[in-house]
Order: sequence, then structure tokens, then C-alpha cells
Amino acid sequence: MAIDEAINPGRDERLTAERAYELYWADLLGADATFLCIGEGCQAHLICACLEKPEQNLRIRPYFRSRRLEDHADTCEVVRGKDGDRKEKLPDVFEAQRPLDHFRAVPPVTAPATATTTPPPPRRTASGGGNLPRASHYYRLSSLVQKFLEHRRDNDLDEASVEIGGESTTYAELFRNVYRQKVADLTATRAVWWGKATLRATKEGGYFLTFTRPFRHDDSELRPTITLTARDIDAYAVRRLLRARLDKLIDEGGRCVVFVWAKPWMPKNTEEPFVRFYVNNLDHIDVRGTDILEELKNTSRIAR
Ligand SMILES: [Zn+2]
Repeated sequence: MAIDEAINPGRDERLTAERAYELYWADLLGADATFLCIGEGCQAHLICACLEKPEQNLRIRPYFRSRRLEDHADTCEVVRGKDGDRKEKLPDVFEAQRPLDHFRAVPPVTAPATATTTPPPPRRTASGGGNLPRASHYYRLSSLVQKFLEHRRDNDLDEASVEIGGESTTYAELFRNVYRQKVADLTATRAVWWGKATLRATKEGGYFLTFTRPFRHDDSELRPTITLTARDIDAYAVRRLLRARLDKLIDEGGRCVVFVWAKPWMPKNTEEPFVRFYVNNLDHIDVRGTDILEELKNTSRIAR
């Protein structure tokens, strides 16, 4: 079974699998990192599946699991949860900015050299009853896209809610396909705009995306573009993941599906109209293989 959260003793942190995945790709967590179950009195060691895979789709996504069910304590509510607990659903939260210390490096834990060393406080007891429902907070759009794809598969986009900038909306309202929408009316609309696109590398070490499905503008069609500069990428904590994903897609021919949390931008007073999405924060873009569309077409519901 898939487990949502775990404790990483090295960072003394309770984290989601998405967070573990980001830390791994930010070189702040090794592939051999230890994850422990958050259940009451439980010491079960967990594995973070798909930690090292740069791509994500409906089948490939990071999650925790134990090797055996018997690894969990009898008191562990994570694997022996009461049904009532699990049904309670809080809206997901998308945070537009990360906390400043989000990618802090943790000093290596040194073994206590002498008996006089004070052991660290047992943080784990503080998480007793830690399986209270907590809202999922996401910082990278990719995490939200993963949820969007799952809700699309489960056909409940209208019901699944997400909080963004303090306002609550549904996945159905938040995610908008650019295709055939009248762009001039939408330049003030910040949403997760998405569509099929092509991707190429630029000479200076960045990337350039062109939507293949257009917006509508008067009698013409406008294909929005996005430029990701090498400078921005180099300053981004999870750049190794972003580059690995994009380079893999380019190797496979450059066809992709792009998601971007932004407003469509059009210049004023130009002869030729055009549309761009400006991405100031690379957490606000996600680029995936076109297999996600095939998956959604071919699967009505996947057994979990
Ligand atoms: Zn457990």
C-alpha cells in the first residue's frame, strides 16, 4: 500500500514523498536515506519508490511503502487505519512561494562520541497521534499536476478543491487548456494553463517551449511560448530534476505537455500580436511526456 508521509531521522523531518523527491533531486537527501513510519509506536522502515526517476506520470510517482506489513507495530494506525480517518479530505494547498529555509542543508548527524553527549530530544514522540488529517502543501507545480491527473482519471475534478493564494477553487477551475480560448479576454487570468507543446534547447543552455495548440485571437490563432533561461535554471534548487526531465523529453523528440501557473501576456501596440507566459519561479512550470494524455485516454480508472 502507498503511504503518504514518513520521518527522515537525518533531517529530523516529517515529510511527504513529494518532498523527499524534491530533496533528493536538490542533492539534500541520498538515495539510501532512511524513512520511518509515522504511526503510533511504529519503527517500520519505509522505501521511497520512484525517488530516482526524473519522469512522472500516473504509474510513476514517488510514494512510501514498507517491505512487509509485519514491519509495522500493532499500534500503527497508518496501515491499520480506521476507515473513518481516511475519508476526511482537506483541500490541497499550493504555496506560491517556498519558505526561505525549505532547501536548507542539514549538518551530518555525528555519532555521540562520549556518554556525556546529550542525545537529541526524541522528536518522534511529538508525532504521536501524528496521523491526524493534514492538508497537503505543495510548492512545485508538478506535485499539483500529479493530483490533477489523478483527479482527471477519477473523474472528480469538479469536487476536488485546492487552496491557492488564500482562495479556494477546484482543480477543474484552476487548470485551463489554452486551446481555442479567446486570449485577449484572459490576460488577467492567472491559472494553470496547459496544452501540448514542443520543447527545444537554446544555444545558451536554456529551453524554449512552443504550444502546438493555439489560443484564439480575432481571426487568428496564437501559439504561446515560454523561455527558460540558463541563468534562472542554474539558480533553481531542483534544477537537476528540471534538466533531467527536459533533456529526456528532447531526446525523445521534444513533444510534451506543458503546465504553467501564470497569466498569458500579450504586448500592446505591436504589429504582430503574440502570447508569452513568463515564468519567474521555476516551481511554477511542469513539463511532461505526452504519454500522460494517452494514459488518461486509455484508462477509465486504475486500481490503486
Ligand atoms: Zn507503521
